[in-house]
Amino acid sequence: MTLTDSSPRTAGRREGDTAIRTTGLTKRYGRVTAVDGVDLHVPAGVRFGLLGPNGSGKTTLVRMLLGLVHPTAGSVELLGSAMPRHAATVLPRVGALVENPASWSHLSGRANLRLLDAAGPGGRRRDRRTRVDDALERVGLGGVDRRPVRAYSLGMRQRLGIAAALLRAPALLLLDEPTNGLDPRGIGEMRTLLTALNEGGTTVVLSSHLLSEVEALCTRVGVMDAGRLVLAEDLAALRTPTGLVTVRTPDPARAAAVLGDAVTARSGDALTVRAADPAAVNARLVAAGVAVAGLAEQRRSLEQVVLELTGSGSDRIASAMTGGVR
Ligand code: ATP
Repeated sequence: MTLTDSSPRTAGRREGDTAIRTTGLTKRYGRVTAVDGVDLHVPAGVRFGLLGPNGSGKTTLVRMLLGLVHPTAGSVELLGSAMPRHAATVLPRVGALVENPASWSHLSGRANLRLLDAAGPGGRRRDRRTRVDDALERVGLGGVDRRPVRAYSLGMRQRLGIAAALLRAPALLLLDEPTNGLDPRGIGEMRTLLTALNEGGTTVVLSSHLLSEVEALCTRVGVMDAGRLVLAEDLAALRTPTGLVTVRTPDPARAAAVLGDAVTARSGDALTVRAADPAAVNARLVAAGVAVAGLAEQRRSLEQVVLELTGSGSDRIASAMTGGVR
């Protein structure tokens, strides 16, 4: 999976288009400042992951973007238009999944989507049926159409929520914890689906408390901590080299002798070598007649970056990363 893309690729989209821009966005509930002066910029075309421990303000931020919660201060622009003033023209181009997707539980998923679609862009009856069928198919619910939604697992409801968001072929998809309730296979399928949608031109913005999920899916990352946006950066730029290279060789003893003090650790057939240029390490070993089975530059993981950034709050992040908190 490419981790480097952050530039718009869709035909017709202007370089530098903005999907989301907030300025000084703030929400207070009594004494609690849920979101605190957030200036967020999400370029069009990215897959943006909003990370943060439980209670850091992600849901409140996403709700304010959609006009579901009124800000105490600050402003929101979606797809270039001010919200909520232009909600009527902007929201039809935005798909959203926020918390438990609403549904009529005695009806099938298909019937639910037909009802939602009836309130949407319209079109001929056959087109509408195709739109609903396509959305169900894309989220993997095509085969379960007769079952009432109350018999769905949480993961299936989550997929139905995504299918509802897809009915509008949105320019922007906003998802609050989209993999909630999904098993590992469902999470993988969701990742594939969101990547395909993004490659088709949809800007994907999702919140998550799972670093691994965001690292696997997103091209750009924002981190919330206690209501503040403490980081917004391309993932590729965050994952800078550590200055260490892992070398695998069938002859680690000779390799260690050749590389001398540059070797900082050795485990089995793998050496950790301090080196600015991995190619130079390879050249030295090959010149000395040492076979090299593999060579990999070590990069900082998103986990390291976030832990360094959030400092004393790291126990909250760390427990969320292991899936222990939700
Ligand atoms: P989680 O991952 O648990 O969903 P989050 O990052 O989405 O957390 P929010 O749900 O936005 O965080 O909550 C941020 C803070 O605002 C929390 O302290 C929460 O208790 C508070 N909060 C959110 N909504 C309300 C509300 N309607 N009334 C009072 N306080 C609220």
